[in-house]
Amino acid sequence: MRCGAGIEARQVNELFINIDPIQAGGRLTADAMNAVNAYGDGYSVCDNCRKPHRLDYINKPPVAGFHKDVAKWLNMDDVRTVPGARRGFQAAAQTYINKGDPVLLTTLSHYTEFLAIEEAGGFAREIPANENMMITSDAAAMKIEEVIREFGKVPVLAFIDHVDYQYGNMHDVKAIAKVARQYDIPVVYNGAYTVGILPVDGKDLGVDFVVGSGHKSMASPAPSGILAATRERSAEVFRTTTIEGDVTKRRFGIKEPAMLGCTLMGATLIGMMASFPHVKERVKHFDRELENNRIVLEALLSVNGTKVLSQYPRKHTLTRIDTIASYDKVAESHKKRGFYFSGALEEKGITGVIPGATKVWKFNTYGMTKKQACYLADALIDIARENGLPVNG
Ligand SMILES: *Cc1c(COP(=O)(O)O)cnc(C)c1O
Repeated sequence: MRCGAGIEARQVNELFINIDPIQAGGRLTADAMNAVNAYGDGYSVCDNCRKPHRLDYINKPPVAGFHKDVAKWLNMDDVRTVPGARRGFQAAAQTYINKGDPVLLTTLSHYTEFLAIEEAGGFAREIPANENMMITSDAAAMKIEEVIREFGKVPVLAFIDHVDYQYGNMHDVKAIAKVARQYDIPVVYNGAYTVGILPVDGKDLGVDFVVGSGHKSMASPAPSGILAATRERSAEVFRTTTIEGDVTKRRFGIKEPAMLGCTLMGATLIGMMASFPHVKERVKHFDRELENNRIVLEALLSVNGTKVLSQYPRKHTLTRIDTIASYDKVAESHKKRGFYFSGALEEKGITGVIPGATKVWKFNTYGMTKKQACYLADALIDIARENGLPVNG
């Protein structure tokens, strides 16, 4: 089966248990797949766009209702869809950062936050993680004071990742936001690994913005995401256009410059909408996901020498481990070197581990059944035994 133009059909999630950290939460639901088919054409959501001509006002299909539902679900006041979490960071960055302004983020922050700051002309100032790879509110307070000494002013914006992409550790955003509020620093909650995975309550966290990634964590096509704001911040980031052409005197109504007018106009938006009922339901069952993670992680830790580098016990399914003293021992003498490990996994129908990686690597058990988690756990132990590694218990 081929797609033409030399493109082969992709059958990764059909044929394998996929533990790729960035792919686990973005796999489409069957409803989203149907939506992609039905709304793949360009500007397909615009069939019934009426005055005042903006995406979030469209009622057929129910785009307007979706915006309201997502805002309520996150306990925020306003929501827009964006082409990826990064575009949510960019909208906030362009709103608050002027050239030379200091901006707060962390030593575990995603690169897209850095780039958003760079494009707006700001300076990135990182709150350091402690020895447990956790970002604390004390460290945030110290960094803010340090920035004040360096720049003579407070950071104009803060990006805080609730669950970081490096360790999958869950940081105390609520406490950090409380500190930021004392200095009037708007806080962008980066929920790339949480929105669509576990319950998120923006007001309870005390943040100004919530950013989510559709294709990472909301079972949606790429590029998609959401930017939610409180009422106060909404007027700032979702300000409406005031520009006028000098010749035509044209103005553009209630279009929003930070969104460049309308954002997701077809399969991405309708895919997100189609998955949303499933996503709302699945966040209520994150405990099952943690249980599957525990099953797999215990198996890995039963292989002598394996260390977990993430916060333990786990609070998220994205996990970083160190197998230098276990699986990597085999790589030293194996004819396939480190590739024996990913190769053996592939043979057992498991994909998503970086080919050749046997030292420090990440996996994400999100979305698998308990049966699949047990199968994966057994497979990891079997690979260890087949290669002569000692296993406990
Ligand atoms: C993946 C990721 C992003 C980028 O998300 P996009 O939706 O692809 O823009 C941002 N931050 C974190 C922490 C991520 O893990």
